[in-house]
Parts: sequence; C-alpha cells; structure tokens
Amino acid sequence: MKKFLVLLAVCLFAVGAQAKTAKNLIWVIGDGMGPSAVGFFMEAVRNGNNPAFPDKVSNLEKFINRSDTGLYFNNTKGSIVSDSACAATQMATGQFSLPDYIGQDYSGLNVKTIMEEAKERGMSVGVVTDVYVTDATPAAFLSHARSRKMKYDIARQMVASGADVIMGGGLKYFTQGENKKLLKEAKKQGYTIVKNKKQLASAKGKKILGLFADEAMPFYVEKTLHPNTPTLKDMAVAALKVLSKNPKGFILMVEAGKIDWALHENDAGASYYEMLTLDETLPLLTAFADKNEDTLVYLNADHETGAPAFNYRHLDEAQVQHKNAQGEMLYGGHTDYIDYKQYDKLLLQTRVLYYVNEDFKKLPAAQQTPQKFQEMLDKGLGYHVDISVLENPTDYAAVKKLINEQKGLAWATGTHTSGMLLGIAYGDYDGFTGVYHNTDLKKKFSAALGWTELSDTDED
Ligand SMILES: [Zn+2]
Repeated sequence: MKKFLVLLAVCLFAVGAQAKTAKNLIWVIGDGMGPSAVGFFMEAVRNGNNPAFPDKVSNLEKFINRSDTGLYFNNTKGSIVSDSACAATQMATGQFSLPDYIGQDYSGLNVKTIMEEAKERGMSVGVVTDVYVTDATPAAFLSHARSRKMKYDIARQMVASGADVIMGGGLKYFTQGENKKLLKEAKKQGYTIVKNKKQLASAKGKKILGLFADEAMPFYVEKTLHPNTPTLKDMAVAALKVLSKNPKGFILMVEAGKIDWALHENDAGASYYEMLTLDETLPLLTAFADKNEDTLVYLNADHETGAPAFNYRHLDEAQVQHKNAQGEMLYGGHTDYIDYKQYDKLLLQTRVLYYVNEDFKKLPAAQQTPQKFQEMLDKGLGYHVDISVLENPTDYAAVKKLINEQKGLAWATGTHTSGMLLGIAYGDYDGFTGVYHNTDLKKKFSAALGWTELSDTDED
C-alpha cells in the first residue's frame, strides 16, 4: 500500500509538472498507410537508387528518428476492421463510431470534431487532400452525415463550417445538381476560389477554397500529365500561409489520400509514388515546426490497406516441395530472395496500371490485341513484363498478379486490414508513445494544445 502511495505521488507529480503546450497542430494522415507501406517505402529509398535521395534516407525516416512513435488500434464500435469514414470520425471526435458514418457516434448522434472545437476557441482550421474534399477523411473533420456517400450534403456543410482552408479535388460536388450555386455561396462566405496551380500560388485572402479536379486529384506517378495541378506539398505551403496568420493558432489536416487508392489496386509503383508525395511534404512541415516551436506535427494512418511485403519464392517447386519429419521445409538452393533492383523498377513507372487497362478497354475492339496491351503496359511500367505467358494476356487481374509475382511482392488483400498503426509525433509533446486507440487521439491533442490535461478521463 505504501509503495502504491509513493508511486501515486510520483505519478501526480509527473502529471502536475507543466507540460509543453502547442499553439498549432499539423496532422498528416497517410490514408491506408499501414506499417507495411511505411516500411516498403523507407526500404525502397535505402536500397534503391532514387536520385532525390542522395543519402538514401527518406524524409519519413528522418522524421521518425526525430519524433515519438506509438502504436494504436482503430477498431470501430461494431467491427474489427474500419473504413476511412469511421476511422477519421473516431480520430476527429474521440468517440466510437461505425463504418460509413461521418462525424457521428455509433448511435448516429452528431459529435463535435476537434476542428469545430478549435474554431470555437478562435483558432483557424483547414483540410488539404489529394483525393476530393468531400471524401471520408476531410469530411469527418468538418461535417456530420449518416453516410460518406452524401457528398453534396457534405460539400454544403464544409462551406458552412467556416474552415479557413479547404483544398483538394471534388469540384463537381460544388458545381452540379443541388449544389449549382455553392461556389457563389462560398464566395459570399469570404472564400477565394482557386482551381489550378497558378491560381493557388498567387491566391490572397483570408479563406481559400481550392478545387483542383472534378473528382479526385491525379495520382502522383502521373504528375507530368497534369502540370497545372498542384501537388500535396504545393497545397500544404498555401494552407500554412493562410492559417499561420492567426495568433491563436490553427489545426491543419493534410491527407495523402491516394496512398490508399494505390494500395487497394495492389499497384506497387503507384504506391511508391503516393508515399513519395507524402515524403516530399514532410520537410516543409517540420521546418515550419522548427521555426515556430509551438507546433505539433503528427503523422499517422486511418487504417492499413493492401499490406504489401516482399517474399522469397521457390524457383524449382519440385525440388523444395518436401519437408522433413518435423515439417521443416527443405529449401535446397533454388530460392529467389529478391534482388534490390526491384526497388529501382518502381521508379520507372509513369502510369497507374489500372488506367493503362482502362485506356486499353477504350480502344476500338479490333485494336484490343495482346500485342497492343503489351506495348501499353511496358510503356506505363517502364520495363518489360512478358504477358504472353498468360492464358489470357489481356486479363488485367492476371497481368497484375504476374507483375507482382515477378517482383516477389505479396499483398495480403485488396481491401483494409485490422493491422496496428504507427502514430508519430514531432515536437516533443507528452502522450504519444505506447499503445493506444484512435479514439484517444482527440484527448491527446486537447492536452497538447493546452485545452485539457492529459490525465483528464471524463469525456464530454
Ligand atoms: Zn480504403
């Protein structure tokens, strides 16, 4: 008992000690970016030859080395696996929810998000994404809906939210159907509306609504096809310019949303490039935090998608398909442990494989030959994979499987997993190590921002 009291006193002293508080929170979410994708990218930089990394260290790796890292779960109220809507809702509100719900708890009640609370406290808030702004992740910070599919309703709520920065794709949800006049309304609310890279760079004004594509913004691997579209980094630069003017601070959520899309497709090259666009954005954010020492930069994922990992393969199945009496696999020497050059092949890709297939299907029927598909695929991949070995060489699913098998890359799934996630906090704030749940994040940030104490357990 005595020992316990001493321990309690030590704990209370630790909690009572003045914890460092942040004025600003920059929250970066790699959608679908499980530990598998983080490792895949960092290792590809370490062991590949990307000229952007002469020291072979990714910005992500540097970021992690200067941060506190914790592990967390993201299960929902009723399921082991989460979608982006529920995950973002749980992160933004601190309440358990259900898949498909936006800014509502599991009973369907609207709950206050961390951004709504920040607004009430006089802070500025903003969301930046490279998918569309009405998509699940940004939506759950600024709106409330029974389903993530209610994109037109969400668009209206986002304009009404008074967020100082809203940037990404999704123009059509602000210009079509019931929302024909929404841009006019946004202008009335004080938003400067920008639609391309040039307009964004020169945008002035206290509030910016940037809508750079009708639906999602382009994949980063195809960026040269879209020179007038800003990158995630371009948008983050512009967002910080607006938000940092508020002396009361800000919360900015930056979503690298297409990591999830590329991982869903099990497209290794596209996944690498989507991780790259997040990686390129990090130094800007840490530089801002270094200059403004009261800024917490937090990087995490909403859930894991795809779960890629290289795996060795047996080159001569007949030789290795036997086990000894204990069941141990007898390998012989016929095993391919995967060459580092697979990392450099990722860099050669210039198209999303899904789009190569879509383009192929749009050709006149007479032109849809295996030779033509081979030609288009080699061009998009940047190297040759012989699809003539397949029974049906124009079957996209079979082609994709062949490409991954030749890389030695295994994917756990084309959907989401329940895998644990990494939460990485930069800026030396308390509470971001150990194991936690995504519903704990709002509490952690409220403490870091000095709204509440970290020890507070009561929810409002
Ligand atoms: Zn997903």
